[in-house]
Amino acid sequence: MSCCAKCGKELIGNDIGLTKKLINKASKDFYCIDCLAEIFHCDVSLLEKKIEQYKNMGCVLFT
Ligand SMILES: [Zn+2]
Repeated sequence: MSCCAKCGKELIGNDIGLTKKLINKASKDFYCIDCLAEIFHCDVSLLEKKIEQYKNMGCVLFT
């Protein structure tokens, strides 16, 4: 099980997909949605909306 590279919290599937989308597809460091929001200075709810968007687009990184 992977953990957030910043806060050490256990990651759920979509956190990894979101890191890949937002930072780097080849990234080996993954972040939880809370830390991603902090890194990108945006709200968690905005990232959740993005996950929904990617899912609707049929992106394989999201479940
Ligand atoms: Zn974190």
